[in-house]
Formats: sequence, C-alpha cells, structure tokens
Amino acid sequence: MNALASCPECGGISKWNPPFYVCSVCGLALRRQEYERMVQQQKDALLEAQYEEGLGEQDKKRKRNREYLDWYLGSKK
Ligand SMILES: [Zn+2]
Repeated sequence: MNALASCPECGGISKWNPPFYVCSVCGLALRRQEYERMVQQQKDALLEAQYEEGLGEQDKKRKRNREYLDWYLGSKK
C-alpha cells in the first residue's frame, strides 16, 4: 500500500499513520475506508462534470444548428 496519498479535501500530502491517513496540510484524518470512499466520490464527481461538459458541447452544436436554420428560413422570406 502506498504510504503517501493526496488529501481528498485539499490535495495536500496525506501520510499513512495507522489507522488513519493524516493530511500534513489541513490535518484531515481519515480511516482507509473513508479515504477510499472520498477518493472514489471525487472520481465520480469528476466523471459527472466531464459528462455534463460533453452535454454542454452538444447543446452548443444544437443551438448553432438552430441559429443556422432560423437564418436559413429567415432568408427565404
Ligand atoms: Zn488536506
């Protein structure tokens, strides 16, 4: 097991000090299970953010198409 980890709270260095990971920056102490759960939650949140960003891109494209359509229809008048 890695004795050093990054703190899920502040990104500082957490040291494995059984039975806790103790952050040397903010002092957050987490049991291994809690630590792993928080890291997993962070990963999930990151994935979700990336997913929503992807949706945002699609919306932008859709909007652009819509604007083009409006322009196209408008120019026919
Ligand atoms: Zn910390």
